[in-house]
Amino acid sequence: MQLQSTTRRFQEIGADFRLIFVCAKEMEQGWIGDSALLTKLGFEGEDESLCLLPERGECYVGVENPADHESFRAAAAVAIRALSRYKIDSLAVGSYDETSDQLPLTGAIAEGILLGAYRFDKYKSQTKPCQLKTITFSTENHKGTAVDEGALAGALHRATVLSNAVNRVRDLVNTMPDGMTPEILADEAEQMAKTHDLSCKIYDEDFLKEQKMGAFEAVSRASTRPPRLIHLSYSPDDAKKRVVLVGKGLTYDSGGLSLKPSDFMASMKSDMAGGAGVLGVIQAAAALKLPIAIEAIVGATENMIGGNAYKPDDVLIAKNGKSIEVKNTDAEGRLVLADCLCYAQDTIESFDHIVDMATLTGACVVALGDYTSGVMGHNDTFKTELLSAAQKSGELAAALPFNKHLKRIPEMLTASVLSGIFIYFLWCLSFFNYFHI
Ligand code: ZN
Ligand code: ZN
Repeated sequence: MQLQSTTRRFQEIGADFRLIFVCAKEMEQGWIGDSALLTKLGFEGEDESLCLLPERGECYVGVENPADHESFRAAAAVAIRALSRYKIDSLAVGSYDETSDQLPLTGAIAEGILLGAYRFDKYKSQTKPCQLKTITFSTENHKGTAVDEGALAGALHRATVLSNAVNRVRDLVNTMPDGMTPEILADEAEQMAKTHDLSCKIYDEDFLKEQKMGAFEAVSRASTRPPRLIHLSYSPDDAKKRVVLVGKGLTYDSGGLSLKPSDFMASMKSDMAGGAGVLGVIQAAAALKLPIAIEAIVGATENMIGGNAYKPDDVLIAKNGKSIEVKNTDAEGRLVLADCLCYAQDTIESFDHIVDMATLTGACVVALGDYTSGVMGHNDTFKTELLSAAQKSGELAAALPFNKHLKRIPEMLTASVLSGIFIYFLWCLSFFNYFHI
């Protein structure tokens, strides 16, 4: 699917269909061809409501709050899902921003289209690929003025890069566990590094032993699929900041000897979503040539059962010498991440922030629901920046505060207790709220 810009007026673009957003239930806007017909069909422009007029080649979708980017993003996704069922090649879209700076609304529409059109049909015996090939955005604004074509092309490029990265992450997460083992995830990271000119280091189980990463190594022990520590670096010359991203890459989490019940085990292929998210972020940053150096580290392994599995009551020694008493082998994510965070602190000379992204605990979903990421950390300024960035991106995120009653400093860290060395946890599955896995 190709997005392109034109200075032609919206109504003059030759396309199979036109996508028209009905803002704030205003039915008398310039691009609405026959408002009486829409009213007769019961369309009132309610949020994300849709009306298709195939004979006229028009698709109407409601956006009740036109100041909100996310409303445009969601409405565009609804429209593209409906349109992708038709045998059409081309679509025309107008502009909805009133100033020419960043075109946030047009960017959000483009993202909604590309993310909404995502399908994962790799394993389906019969597929119906979307035939829509070209989407042309006019510089003409719905109020009759025009936005700058350079700004429009820039907004479309950015939206394409971001959506490609998100869709790539969705592919990694949606692939069945046998198709996304730690080795395969490492191959994917290597491929990504080649495409985007990133430096790439992949380490195996011998490295974990050598580095005394006893926590990570213990989790990986019972799997026949060897673990991988993935480290990608993006280092632009003009870097203004250096950010370390550490992702949980459990390509399958059976719970280990503390085995999950069947209903909870299904979907555990997604326990590498934090790691996949970390790879998606570095891919997008490199493609957009952002002036931010990024180190992306993923601890990739399976958590399985077997005669050599680590056990509840085991005491593991992490890379930094800290002892950890295991009470439940299903709390494996923090063990892998503990050693990955030690690795990051030992090998990366200086950085401004370290962000840990993980599907770490179902308790976060219980607290915040299925769509909201939990953000924890001790740096309030950065936490506020992160929450504000999430809001601008259309992501739902909420801070989970610390207080003195939550603090417990046992002599040995217990694996079922939140470890103090983690700086940030994000419930990554919902951090990319378009996953639809
Ligand atoms: Zn687990
Ligand atoms: Zn897990």
